[in-house]
Amino acid sequence: MSKYDRVYNFSAGPSMLPLEVIEDVAANLCNYKGTGESVMEMSHRSKEFQQIIDDAEANLRKLINIPDNYKVLFLQGGGTTQFSMVPLNLLRKSKKADYIVTGQWAKKAYKEATKFGDIKLVASSEEDTYSYIPEVKKDQFRTDADYAYICTNNTIYGTHYPYVPDTGDVPLVADMSSCFLSEEIDVSKYGIIWAGAQKNVAPAGVTIVIIRDDLVGFADEKCPVYLDYKIHVDKGSMYNTPPCFSIYVAGEVFKYLLKIGGIKEMHERDVRKAGKLYDYIDSSSMFKGTVRKEDRSLMNVTFVTGDEALDKKFIAEAKEQGMINLAGHRSVGGMRASIYNAMPEDGVDALIAFMKKFEAENK
Ligand SMILES: *Cc1c(COP(=O)(O)O)cnc(C)c1O
Repeated sequence: MSKYDRVYNFSAGPSMLPLEVIEDVAANLCNYKGTGESVMEMSHRSKEFQQIIDDAEANLRKLINIPDNYKVLFLQGGGTTQFSMVPLNLLRKSKKADYIVTGQWAKKAYKEATKFGDIKLVASSEEDTYSYIPEVKKDQFRTDADYAYICTNNTIYGTHYPYVPDTGDVPLVADMSSCFLSEEIDVSKYGIIWAGAQKNVAPAGVTIVIIRDDLVGFADEKCPVYLDYKIHVDKGSMYNTPPCFSIYVAGEVFKYLLKIGGIKEMHERDVRKAGKLYDYIDSSSMFKGTVRKEDRSLMNVTFVTGDEALDKKFIAEAKEQGMINLAGHRSVGGMRASIYNAMPEDGVDALIAFMKKFEAENK
C-alpha cells in the first residue's frame, strides 16, 4: 500500500486532500512557521492569521481569475446555510427566484427558498432519478426574477452541467461544492458562486462564497446577523471567529494548485482520470453507468452491476483492498467513486484493475 498505509478514499465528502498538503500541514502543525503555536491555536485577530486569510483569497483570485467587482468570503455553516442565505439576501425586488432541480442538493435549496418568496421550478430531472441535466432556454426564466439557481455538479447522482444556462440579466447563483477548482470557469457569468470546502478544497468547516458586489446589502433588517452577506463583506470574513484551520488548509490547497500549473492542469488530470474509469465502465459487461453520457461528472462516477447483492460484494471486497467508501449515496444505492482533484491517478488505476478482476471472478 501507499505511503503511511493510506487508503484510496472514494468518499463524496469529506474526501481526500493532496498528500503533499497534508505533509506540509503536519510539518507545521505544532509550530507554524516559527510562531511557536499551531494555526489551530492562533488568534484570528493575529497578524499571522490575517496573512493566512489574505494569501488564501489572493491565491484563489489568481487561480480562477476572479474579477475585482466580486467579493470572496470564507464562511461557516456549510452548503446548507447557503440554501438559506441566498434567498434571504437576493430576494430583493420582485421576491421571485427560478430554480433548476437536478438532484437532492438543488431540491433542498429550492425547498428552503420557497419559505421566503415566489419560487418557480423551471425544470427538474427528478422523474428520471436525476440521471440527466435538463436543457433550459433563456425564455424559461422569468425576466423579473431576482436570481436563478443551479447546482453545477450533482454529487449524489454523478451529473454535471455541460453548459451554463443563459439567464439574461437575471443573476445566476451556482452551488459548485463538488466540482469547484476542477475546471476553468468564467466567474463573470455568475452572480454568486459558492462551494462547501469538504468536497474538493479543504477539511469541513469553511464554505467559500464569491459574490458580485452589486448583490451585497439587500438582506432584510430582520435577517439573522450571521446570514447577511454584507456583514461578512464589511468585516473581511472576520465579523466573528472564522473557521481558521479550514481556511488555512484551503489556502495551502490553492498554493498547491498554482504550483502544479493551475486549474488548466488540474482539469486535464481530472479528465484523464474520469475518462479511464468511464471507458472501462462502458466496455464492461458487468458494470453500467447510471447517467446520460453527455452529463457525466468528472468528480462523482456512479455505476451499478444491476444486482444489489453483487454491488454489496464489490463494495466489501474493494474495502479489503484499501479502496473505501465506494457505496452509492444511501438514497440511490449502487456504487459511486468520488475521484476529486486529490484522488491520485494511481487510485483510479487501482480501482479499474480491481473492477476487472472482480468482473472476471464473478461472471
Ligand atoms: C455536500 C453538498 C452540499 C451540502 O453541504 P453541507 O456542507 O453538508 O451542508 C450542498 N451541495 C452540494 C453540491 C454538495 O455536494
